[in-house]
Amino acid sequence: MQEVFYDFSIFEILKDKKPLLVCDSAFDSFCIKFPCEVARFSEFGSNPVYEDICLGVKTLEENDCDFIVAVGGGSSIDTAKAIKYYSGAKLPIMAVPTTSGTGSEATHFAAIYKDGEKCSLADEKLLPEYVILRADLLKTLSLYQKKCTMLDALCQAIESWWSRGATKESIRYSKEAVNLILANMESYLRNEDSGNENMLLAANLAGRAINISTTTAAHAMSYKLTSLYGIPHGHAVAICFPKVWRQMKNFNEIAFALGQPNYEEACLFFEKMLQDLEISAPDNASEDDLEILVNSVNIERLNNNPIRFDKLTIKNLYREILGVY
Ligand SMILES: [Zn+2]
Repeated sequence: MQEVFYDFSIFEILKDKKPLLVCDSAFDSFCIKFPCEVARFSEFGSNPVYEDICLGVKTLEENDCDFIVAVGGGSSIDTAKAIKYYSGAKLPIMAVPTTSGTGSEATHFAAIYKDGEKCSLADEKLLPEYVILRADLLKTLSLYQKKCTMLDALCQAIESWWSRGATKESIRYSKEAVNLILANMESYLRNEDSGNENMLLAANLAGRAINISTTTAAHAMSYKLTSLYGIPHGHAVAICFPKVWRQMKNFNEIAFALGQPNYEEACLFFEKMLQDLEISAPDNASEDDLEILVNSVNIERLNNNPIRFDKLTIKNLYREILGVY
């Protein structure tokens, strides 16, 4: 079970605790005061690797922490979850997202990288027990970070919607998320309070949707793009997304939600949006990369995709996404 708060009143419960605070350097720009001593852990990158997690477990154990608080984007929250996972400790997690994208605060899984490969951890116990949603924490994000995280939320909402694992409940979350994202995109990109607030909610709803259904092909194909070209997760997913949809066709109901008459128009709409946001594919991909990328996609993970893709289809999709001809 998870409780969501819109202020810091729940910090009360930390009074007699010694939390491990998992955060990145952005934490120092916020005025978040803890009612207790914390052991801070910030030694992880934007795509946390297994070695980072081991360091975190060591910090947790050396400081006898009895709580985990994550303040940050998906990397901080996923790192916190992975530390709990690998430590085997039964500690509650409090998540305070400072980006509106990953929805990691609303899911029971975490993505880390091990030997350059994406490694997905899943356990019911990884769902944070407490979440604090504060729009003012989004203020210091760069415009590029805001674009990437918003696109991640949008792709997550739509992928969840068409995924084989979708339920009535997850589709309800997806629809709400898509509506909120479209209605608030401009205000959010202008860094206005109302836009930030609604985007934070949208990201949370998209997180709840994928917590039920998980994601599909665009996500499965994105992870190696992140590790190979160093592009952020949301950026990598977004460049895959319209090509994947065009390959699958259909899902006109989702196109309607995007204000478009059919899937073809919806794909064009999405590509135009990426252009306007100046989000493009890396231009240094080679023919050799295609083979590496295809082999990185876990075919089993693609099973959640509504349509089966064979290896040749995936290779052609990568060719198209990266413009390698
Ligand atoms: Zn994502």
